Amino acid sequence: MRIVITGGAGFIGSHLCDFLISKGHFVICVDNLLTGSMKNIEHLFGNSKFLFIKHDVTNYIHIPGNVDVVLHFASPASPVDYLNLPIQTLKVGALGTHKALGLAKEKKAVFMLASTSEVYGDPLINPQREDYWGNVNCIGPRGVYDEAKRFAEAMVMAYHRYHKVDIRIIRIFNTYGPRMRLNDGRVVPNFIYQALKNLSITVYGEGKQTRSFCYVSDLVDGIYKLLFKKYHKPINLGNPCEMSILEFAQLIKKITKSKSKIIYKPLPQDDPQQRRPDITTAKKILSWEPKVLLKDGLTKTISYFKKIV
Ligand code: NAD
Ligand code: UDP
Repeated sequence: MRIVITGGAGFIGSHLCDFLISKGHFVICVDNLLTGSMKNIEHLFGNSKFLFIKHDVTNYIHIPGNVDVVLHFASPASPVDYLNLPIQTLKVGALGTHKALGLAKEKKAVFMLASTSEVYGDPLINPQREDYWGNVNCIGPRGVYDEAKRFAEAMVMAYHRYHKVDIRIIRIFNTYGPRMRLNDGRVVPNFIYQALKNLSITVYGEGKQTRSFCYVSDLVDGIYKLLFKKYHKPINLGNPCEMSILEFAQLIKKITKSKSKIIYKPLPQDDPQQRRPDITTAKKILSWEPKVLLKDGLTKTISYFKKIV
């Protein structure tokens, strides 16, 4: 297949590029390097199955030749990034999704949207099922990301219903692994960096809020399986293994054998208090569930960060 990946130079996108090329597909990575990096894809330059186009997908996307799949992954994803880049985040979720859908419609390609657990906002039910409508503060600081993704989902469904585009919507829950940016502000790179440098580990709030962490290869596996299923509703992809952020800080400290002390900082506004995917749908439709244990995924991620700190 000829596969276009917007955001292909980012953390998840670059793992998708590698995986799809390893399966024999031709990959066209479209990225403006807003939060991604050439370092994530430079090993693919010279590969006859890879093409990089530097382009902002909020503008018309021109791809010569046939395209079988469009994977729309372009968007800042870390809270720190999208708080620093609020307008770009709204634009790529709205205009970028529109342009990427236009490309899929024109090429009669399968379209996949990388949506997020953030569409559930600060959820009032736990775990979150796909039929939960969410609890989002549209005018809060996180609203730029949450509402952009909610708008994107609505647009994808409209292209499916009105233009019959063969769509997929994945709601990704916290995913981690090598190639996350050291300074992207997310909890995984922050805690690992702080632990490796014996700096104080910054837990926000009392650390009682929960997250569930999925290793990137498990996510990629789920994404690939979904490409071959004509399933046209949102589907959660994540690891249901839930823990508090304080427990997570203690785990990172233990694995890295760090001397860091844990300190407490104010909790950011609207920080979701609980997050765990209900993956019943993914299990049923894709026969998929995460395989990588948290300690194994973290060990791999920590060795990556050791090389770059
Ligand atoms: P990332 O920041 O590493 O990657 C995003 C990529 O999109 C970057 O390479 C960036 O340069 C590119 N990009 C942004 N705006 C663009 C534009 N206008 N035109 C072209 N390229 C643009 O983030 P990530 O963690 O790899 O996330 C990838 C996708 O998955 C995002 O859509 C994100 O919302 C979604 N997601 C990720 C997670 C997670 O835990 N990592 C969770 C939920 C959803
Ligand atoms: N967090 C933290 N310390 C940090 C970075 C993040 O305690 O240095 C917390 C953050 O408040 C949130 C959780 O860790 O409750 C996950 O944050 P992240 O930025 O990774 O993404 P989110 O899941 O909120 O989108």
